Amino acid sequence: MRLHALRWWRQARLRARGACTGADALVFPAGPGAIASASPAAGAVLIAAVLGLSACTTIHPPVQAPIHAPIHPPAQAPAGPPGTSAEDRSSTPTEWPAIAGADGRVLGRGARVLVYLPAPGDRLDAIAERFLGSADEGWQIAEANDIGRVQAGQALAVPLRPANPLGVRADALQLVPILCYHRVGGANSRMSVGVSAFEQQMAWLVDNGYRVIRLADLGEFIAGRKPLPRRSVVLTFDDGYASFHRYAYPVLQKYGLPATVFVYTDFVGARDALTWKQLAELQRSGLVDIQSHARSHRNLVDAPAGETAERYLAYLDGELRGSREQIERRLPSSSVRHLAYPFGDADARVAERARMQGYELGATVVPGGNAFYAAPMMLRRTMIFGHLDLEAFKARLQFEQPLTRP
Ligand SMILES: [Zn+2]
Repeated sequence: MRLHALRWWRQARLRARGACTGADALVFPAGPGAIASASPAAGAVLIAAVLGLSACTTIHPPVQAPIHAPIHPPAQAPAGPPGTSAEDRSSTPTEWPAIAGADGRVLGRGARVLVYLPAPGDRLDAIAERFLGSADEGWQIAEANDIGRVQAGQALAVPLRPANPLGVRADALQLVPILCYHRVGGANSRMSVGVSAFEQQMAWLVDNGYRVIRLADLGEFIAGRKPLPRRSVVLTFDDGYASFHRYAYPVLQKYGLPATVFVYTDFVGARDALTWKQLAELQRSGLVDIQSHARSHRNLVDAPAGETAERYLAYLDGELRGSREQIERRLPSSSVRHLAYPFGDADARVAERARMQGYELGATVVPGGNAFYAAPMMLRRTMIFGHLDLEAFKARLQFEQPLTRP
């Protein structure tokens, strides 16, 4: 079977080491033989994975490469709701909604994983909607099985719980890059990306398997609450230039890509800045999130000579709380919890003060991607300059950090 179970098996073992409950045994409606008898070697890989979860013992997978022959369960395999154990009944649903595009058969299931034999015409999004509750989660099935799309007869492991929520693999750590733009449109320059170059970059992301996620999702990932697709990326735009509305927003709408605009509130409504009316339109779209870039764009780290510590802290609070409160007052649907430090500059005192003022994520311009252990108030962010060609843009998308073995 083209289950690509070896990779998934390794992830499952990593997870099992940390959270062995003994509650993960699969239930095979047709018996494990339904898998093993049709494709013994492939069945052995899958069953080894299941046992590895169930018994918390170290089981070495077969040395052979994943088998590519499809599973053919016996024709007499019983249909109907899978699973009968009390543990499974209490931990996973016994029936799933009928959804077009997910009409195949459940071969076995446990609390953590379900084995599914797709029918002709089944799709990842439909399978995810049926078993994981959201069509958006199809990537979890794709990554667990290392596939791009479903093939009839190719059994799939459907992770009912996130297979790898921290993005830790044997050979690499998942990183999530946050890209930082300023102006879009006009001639390419250091701080302005031409609209054709911007569209080319967005199209490339979409065409090459990247998932543009919301900054809030990265926060959930770092908190250990939400797994993210392997090639996730966040888009941010600093300062609040009017060019965002005119040039970048239509491209984001075209591809359905979410983004965060960080505005410094003293700038809103200035000559080439977004207006509050435009910001309200963007926020209402559901695609663009308006967040804080402080109030005056003064460097928060620099305390002017002669300023007392007390006055400096009061100034910091005014920059941080003042911008957040103004945005939330002018854009009632907004909730400002994310901050881009002016000039990307922050130290421990600024970061702590921001956290005290209600911010949950703070973005610097230290380049690179963010791993699960990233400091939420000191996120790395990579500048995208107008003079970068597409190859240079690609090179800035650090979505994994290779791990070397001792
Ligand atoms: Zn700025």
